[in-house]
Amino acid sequence: MSREYYRELGVRTVINAAGTYTMVGGSRMSEETLAAMAEAARSHVVLKELQSKVHERLASITRNEAAFVTNGAAAALHIAGASCIARRYGRPFASLSPEQIARSEIIIHRAHRNPYDWAVRLLNARIVEIGFPNTILPTVEDDLEYAVTENTAAIFYFFMPPGGWVAKGALSLEATLRVAARRGIPVVVDAAAQLPPTENLWRITGEGADICVFSGGKDLRGPQASGLMVGKKEIFEWIARTAFPTYGVGRMFKVGREEIVGLLSAVEQYVAMDSEARLRWAEERIAGAVREFEGNGNVSVQRVYPNEAGQPFPQMLFRFVVPGCAEEALRLLREGDPSIFTMAADGQSVFVNPMTLRDDEIGVVLSRMREIGRVLAEKGVRE
Ligand SMILES: *Cc1c(COP(=O)(O)O)cnc(C)c1O
Repeated sequence: MSREYYRELGVRTVINAAGTYTMVGGSRMSEETLAAMAEAARSHVVLKELQSKVHERLASITRNEAAFVTNGAAAALHIAGASCIARRYGRPFASLSPEQIARSEIIIHRAHRNPYDWAVRLLNARIVEIGFPNTILPTVEDDLEYAVTENTAAIFYFFMPPGGWVAKGALSLEATLRVAARRGIPVVVDAAAQLPPTENLWRITGEGADICVFSGGKDLRGPQASGLMVGKKEIFEWIARTAFPTYGVGRMFKVGREEIVGLLSAVEQYVAMDSEARLRWAEERIAGAVREFEGNGNVSVQRVYPNEAGQPFPQMLFRFVVPGCAEEALRLLREGDPSIFTMAADGQSVFVNPMTLRDDEIGVVLSRMREIGRVLAEKGVRE
């Protein structure tokens, strides 16, 4: 029986025109995934048995040696770090003294520092930074080579095009993997939001990364509180000894049977999806919007590619004629009915990302944009 909690609580639902932003719930699970989670919730199972079967299946469909389901990509980064430190000592993470952990070193490019690296900082290992976040003196392989010591446990790499969470100046992933392979250091790649393309599920580890991390709640359309780790068997044995349901740090990252089964279902659907058809659908909707706004004196539409998360997927940029009105446009979108959530591209433009929109919602967003363009233009003229 549906209680309609959102209505009861007075929480407005929003149309998500921004993309897979966690602050509005990332993505929507399919009915198939929801049904798989509900079914999983109805029975007890031995968690380790479920994990081993699901992880084997996930490894196989993502073309990896091993896989692991966590309660988010950030959790996966922490577990990955702890597992790499444990591996270096050849002992479970929980058995290490604070001094042993503090002595361990994790290398990160300065260009890659971002709020998600709290997941690594909280390990209390030493973070060794390399390079500078600029283009005049980009990092070279020697910078990484010289940073490796007998205490190095892992190299963390944030895989996304410069411009979002990362700055310019880091070594390429390819060069990083080359040095890491020479020195026998595991590389952990944060590719949380780097789907699409689907091939990233196997390409990054195929190039040599030991662990690659994806968010389950972004384009994979799995449970919000899920994350996927894929990679090499050897390190995943350490992950299984560190992550939930092991006592120790893993216990803080509890993942339920519902998330485990839900993410499996979502990944199965993701790899089976016709990406070309999805891309064509998005291009058609964008071209339609561009045509529809041709000659509109208040707001114009432009196709942007790749999108602002660096994914090879197009999105729309709505540019208003009134300078500096983007925040006001966002407010009108949020406060209108239905409420629409998106992000500003600059002071005068906002994005509309088709990735998280349904056909009917695109229609609603376009008509609201036309209306808001008119309102803003009138206001702009009055002032
Ligand atoms: C979203 C994101 C995360 C966190 O993913 P969760 O699954 O929400 O924990 C980590 N790193 C990057 C780069 C992200 O974009």
